Amino acid sequence: MAPPELDAAYFARLIDERMEHTREQISSLTAVIREVTLAAKDIPADDEHDPEGTTVSVERANEVALLAAAEASLIELMEAQERLTTDGYGICERCGNPIPAARLEIRPETRFCVECAAARRR
Ligand SMILES: [Zn+2]
Repeated sequence: MAPPELDAAYFARLIDERMEHTREQISSLTAVIREVTLAAKDIPADDEHDPEGTTVSVERANEVALLAAAEASLIELMEAQERLTTDGYGICERCGNPIPAARLEIRPETRFCVECAAARRR
């Protein structure tokens, strides 16, 4: 459940939209990786000096990193959705203070206030 000063329905909708967007991102990235992987099969694997082969593997590595990031944010969004229906949404997990609505609008999946998020990165 969200604190009474937060419009839980609004944030539920916001999280839904982000999840939808992230799912689309995941499926298009998956499709790109599949294409790149199939294309790479035409290039001899034993020729490490093939410039084309290098480009393909770098491209694939980028797409794989993007896919991993998208999957991680989908998980964060799912956890935020869970907190909205159970407990703790909009409350900083580190200091226990309410997270300002303005921050939640930008990052509805966040678990920390600005100060604590900065402190964690240090
Ligand atoms: Zn905090």
